[in-house]
Amino acid sequence: MALPTHIDLQVLTPDRGIIRDRVDEVEIPGSEGYFGVLPGHRPMLASLTVGELWYRKGEEKYYLAITLGFAEVLPDRVTILARVAERAEDIDITRAEAAKRRAEERLNKAQGDVDYERARVALTRSLMRLQVSMRLPGGGRVGELKRMRDAARG
Ligand code: ATP
Repeated sequence: MALPTHIDLQVLTPDRGIIRDRVDEVEIPGSEGYFGVLPGHRPMLASLTVGELWYRKGEEKYYLAITLGFAEVLPDRVTILARVAERAEDIDITRAEAAKRRAEERLNKAQGDVDYERARVALTRSLMRLQVSMRLPGGGRVGELKRMRDAARG
């Protein structure tokens, strides 16, 4: 049988589909490390960590922020069932920065009723979202201002 030449990628969350596309390569944030998938990959299941997923179509790479879930890999198909996922362009930088500040403040409190593990995970999520948003052309804040200007112009 001929080897597949593409991967049908789907990224789903419990409430919506985020991506459905035919792509050339995917890198997945597995809980035991990031791994790359090319067409013809052996079938496997993997759990996901909080991290960045990218996929490539031709020369172009696209980035997503992923929070936990599972990946099913087949030779011609990758399905990501994420608890939470955002495309880089959908990340609200102001919100991620606020989440980062809140988590840092909690972690800096000397004692009290702070749930440190929860704050640490929230900090990881916010840092990962900020990192993914930086991947856009003219990344992060600069890109956000440009996109807002472009949207205002219609
Ligand atoms: P926050 O403290 O700002 O709510 P969080 O990490 O607790 O952040 P999650 O529980 O991971 O948020 O996500 C809840 C919902 O909000 C999801 O639908 C997620 O996609 C969305 N979301 C969270 N942060 C952002 C962000 N910075 N930009 C866009 N969507 C976000």
